[in-house]
Amino acid sequence: MNKIVSALGKFSLLLPGMPGFEAFERDVVLKLTPEAVLRPHTKMELLEIVKICQKEKIPYTATACRTSVTGASVSDRGILISLEKLNRVLTRPEPHRYGMSVQAEAGIMLKDFQKAVEDKGYFYPPDPTSWEEIQLGGSVATNATGENSYHYGSSRNYILGLEYIDKNGNLVWLERNLNPLNLPKQKNLAGYSLELEPLDLLIGSEGTLGIITEIKALLLPKPNAFLSLMLFVKNETEALRLAQRLDQHKQSLHLICLEYMDEPATQFIKKRSSRFFVPQGCSSLYIKTETPEGKTVEEFEDEFLQLVCELYSQSISMSPELIDHSILAKDYLELLEFRRMRHHVPATINEISVVNQKTGGGKVSSDWWVPIEHLVEHFAWMREEIKKLNLPSAIFGHIGNGHPHVNIMPKTAEEKQASIEFTKKCMLRAASLGGGVCGEHGLGKIKTWALPLQWDQVSIDKMKSVKAEWDPEGLAAPGNIFV
Ligand SMILES: Cc1cc2nc3c(=O)[nH]c(=O)nc-3n(C[C@H](O)[C@H](O)[C@H](O)COP(=O)(O)OP(=O)(O)OC[C@H]3O[C@@H](n4cnc5c(N)ncnc54)[C@H](O)[C@@H]3O)c2cc1C
Repeated sequence: MNKIVSALGKFSLLLPGMPGFEAFERDVVLKLTPEAVLRPHTKMELLEIVKICQKEKIPYTATACRTSVTGASVSDRGILISLEKLNRVLTRPEPHRYGMSVQAEAGIMLKDFQKAVEDKGYFYPPDPTSWEEIQLGGSVATNATGENSYHYGSSRNYILGLEYIDKNGNLVWLERNLNPLNLPKQKNLAGYSLELEPLDLLIGSEGTLGIITEIKALLLPKPNAFLSLMLFVKNETEALRLAQRLDQHKQSLHLICLEYMDEPATQFIKKRSSRFFVPQGCSSLYIKTETPEGKTVEEFEDEFLQLVCELYSQSISMSPELIDHSILAKDYLELLEFRRMRHHVPATINEISVVNQKTGGGKVSSDWWVPIEHLVEHFAWMREEIKKLNLPSAIFGHIGNGHPHVNIMPKTAEEKQASIEFTKKCMLRAASLGGGVCGEHGLGKIKTWALPLQWDQVSIDKMKSVKAEWDPEGLAAPGNIFV
């Protein structure tokens, strides 16, 4: 602590016990106390802080809004650097060879950034469920995805350039050469993306390769009107088969989102929804479509609903009358309500986790993914395993990408250990089916053990050598990704 005060005392230090410090000790799953928190007002101040850390060998972790569910943005080693004051949009939308682009500071809230570009008639697609609560920089450092990633891809697909602070305390600009829209759309966030361009190493690096200061984003024209539909299904296997059929008709339905919520998750949204009726005892599929060019919402609505009803009746034999309870959202407020209902599922699970933590439990969640053709089989296997565990669970998420969030909610340390073992088995099996161990949330500090479930030793050694080259002293976000 004395070292920190003497090295960084000229900046405004937030120290343990001071008002406001507590907020920096927790993300969603971990409580870790840093030695101090710094909140630079300008890029130059940030640069000076990082240079001092590098000279004095003080570990530093970039922190944004701490919605990470892996302990990635909290630390008990060295300081946290919050980018919350570096929050400006820096340019107007301007032409770029791949479309329109705009540049902003990393600490801007994602929702403010999106609103600013929408006000100019454009669209920045990444839409994590937590979009109202996160920073643009946090979303890039985790390569965030959301419900619309089914169609639009992950944050990576919209990054044209990044500025970061390198190992010598210099600001370095990395520009993209390839069209990001042509990059793979699956997120697969477990370690670094070795096969792409240098800036792709930073995207999803969870703060371990340096602090991102500025971001140049690719913008799309504002999309046509959306329609969202929530379908209720009695039987899980039938729901998954319906999801596969919807996926096969993705183009003709113009689907941009295909999500699943099992029965417990559907009951969480039932509690949140005052506006819509959600039936008991069923799971749900939530789909979203974008009106195609040249058609009005009304024209497309009939066509869309007709095809969905056909697919529903071909796939669902148990309680087919549930189709009558389907909910359609069309206007802005209804669509926002759907989005918030969907957000209520992970938010409720996180609340349960906080209560369970008091007795040694919490939540054990995973975000493995499998190619969609393996979904039904992998789910059937997993349900048998959950029965053996005999613990409360809730499953929801991006089923169109073969990527559900499986949450087990143990109350004791022993139950938690059993849940972790179960999760490891699911991940390993997903990887063996051609999928991945981690499609969204990263490894942070609590899932470093999952890296070898996905990658062989040669790939892990390559990642370690990237880390050694970019951050030889191991000062940037220590403890994330690697043990
Ligand atoms: C209810 C809920 C729903 C969620 N839904 C989704 C979802 O749909 N999709 C999804 O992808 N995630 C989701 N998440 C996880 C989380 O919101 C995302 O990972 C998000 O991108 C993190 O943003 P943040 O601003 O909170 O970053 P933080 O949690 O503060 O930081 C995350 C990581 O980024 C690093 N970092 C932050 N800023 C910088 C920077 N400027 N330079 C370098 N590194 C930096 C940190 O060191 C840390 O490793 C959800 C979380 C919750 C609690």
